[in-house]
Amino acid sequence: MNKNLLLKGIVASQGIAIGKVFLVNQDHLELSHYNIATNEEIEKEINRFKKAIEESQSQLLRAKKDINKKKFKEAQYIIDTHILLLQDKVLMDNTIKIIKHEKIDAALALKKTIAGLRTHLAEITDEYMKERTSDIDYIEQRLLRNLAGIKGDLVAKIREKVIIVASDLSPADTANLNVNEVLGFTIDSGGKTSHTAIMARALKIPAVVGLKDITRRVKTGDTMILDGIHGVVIINPTADTLLKYNQKKAEYDEFEIGLLKHKDLPGETIDGFRVKLLANIEIMEELPSVLTYGAEGIGLYRTEFLYLNRKDLPSEAEQFEIYKTVSQKIAPHPVTIRTLDIGGDKFMSHIDVAEEINPVMGLRAIRFCLKEVAIFKTQLRAIMRSSAYGKVKIMFPMISGIEEVRQIKIILSEVKKELQAEHKVFDPDIEIGIMVEVPSAGSIADILAKEVNFFSIGTNDLIQYTLAIDRVNENVSYLYEPLHPAVLRILRNIINSAHDNGIPVAMCGEMAGEPFYMPILLGLGIDELSMNVMALPRVKSVLRSLDYKQSQLVTDSIFKLSTAQEIETLLKKEVKKHFPRIFN
Ligand code: PEP
Ligand code: MG
Repeated sequence: MNKNLLLKGIVASQGIAIGKVFLVNQDHLELSHYNIATNEEIEKEINRFKKAIEESQSQLLRAKKDINKKKFKEAQYIIDTHILLLQDKVLMDNTIKIIKHEKIDAALALKKTIAGLRTHLAEITDEYMKERTSDIDYIEQRLLRNLAGIKGDLVAKIREKVIIVASDLSPADTANLNVNEVLGFTIDSGGKTSHTAIMARALKIPAVVGLKDITRRVKTGDTMILDGIHGVVIINPTADTLLKYNQKKAEYDEFEIGLLKHKDLPGETIDGFRVKLLANIEIMEELPSVLTYGAEGIGLYRTEFLYLNRKDLPSEAEQFEIYKTVSQKIAPHPVTIRTLDIGGDKFMSHIDVAEEINPVMGLRAIRFCLKEVAIFKTQLRAIMRSSAYGKVKIMFPMISGIEEVRQIKIILSEVKKELQAEHKVFDPDIEIGIMVEVPSAGSIADILAKEVNFFSIGTNDLIQYTLAIDRVNENVSYLYEPLHPAVLRILRNIINSAHDNGIPVAMCGEMAGEPFYMPILLGLGIDELSMNVMALPRVKSVLRSLDYKQSQLVTDSIFKLSTAQEIETLLKKEVKKHFPRIFN
């Protein structure tokens, strides 16, 4: 047995879990393959295959119903995609053809059809198609399970509290999961935006993803420590490690509960400098925790999730209902709705755009919307109409120059006119802002600040573009340094330019939710920080024990240093002095 085996992954949802492993055995289906000869046998295999399709369809429909009750809309769309895939003519016709011509069993014929589809998809390099590959994997697994006569859902047989280990889980697999029995998720594949990651965050269950081959390294019943703070997993820990982690978990849980006590107190420093703390959301399921965790509104609503994994575009009516619900539930606090930010490192929707060699620098976000004006206008109409029900602001992603802002304004005024003519109500003074996440926007922040009501700094993209490193490329991740002097200088320019022009600046990239950077952001004079809800209590606690004037002094000395390493060392010394408990 592997004792104390430590694996490193990516934190998808924070927290610590300790418990027994439940291995979702997707890849290890034991299916025996065989040749057939007679027409009768061929007929039998074809019927087995058709029956597996039917069974898979009804299982998915059942899962959809369960999910419906949980109002997890995005998961429904994904299941719909899977149902459509099952109805795909190529899948059916090709498999039947292979059974007939190659005289082999249905499972092997299906594997061959799917392998063909995979090869075809592998040649296409766009992200949306990569997502389709995982949809095809889900379908293959489900069909194979039905062909093997395995009834019941993958995770349905859980009877005790466990940490789920899987290569990936489809929303259908998790639909009838009893979340009270799940201590954590550890997944081979995926990043922060995989289905499992999103769901784990929405359900507040710790999760570490991107563990590559964890399914091969554990078995059901193994003991596991899931450290969703540092993104590590320890399998079959020694007694010492277990003791240490039990302590850590108790401390962490107690600390988190303690942090929530501050939730209704204002986000301000000891010397009274106010920083608004808001939440980033991706799906509606996150709404309840936005308020539980004490957010003063939503600083970034990533709407692209409404467009993903479906065959059609979300209509104005559908979007309106969703935005309206969000703004009503969050009122009187504001909600900043970001318009469609699709493309680049985000998986593409079904929308037909030409393949690009370098999509991160291609037709993404606002560039896409300004090209596909009809899609853009539908979203703007829905957002505008929702503004009658709460405090809605609109934010545009990936702005690189003033022309884009001017174009947007023309389109927005057309939308307002149309709505007026139709006697639809909306907030005529709705605030508009831009994400500052492209270095060109950062350096002309003084010009842009005259055109909009607010800035929000998207550090995830700003850092990748400033330092010329792909944010999802593991080979260059060591260069991804938020404390790089170049990044800090751009941040300073953005914040100062905004303030000189009398507009507020928020930050909504990951940097905003990392307490370690708080003294600098405070020293630079940031007005709002918007982050993943679970990061809120900790950031608030740090903010409430910081001194604004002291942070300004620290920031001044940081600007005299020349490398990220030097800056980090100084910052570490500073924060440890003030918050030994948080930054240990
Ligand atoms: C960012 O780039 O920092 C950001 C918040 O947007 P996203 O991560 O959605 O690109
Ligand atoms: Mg971005």
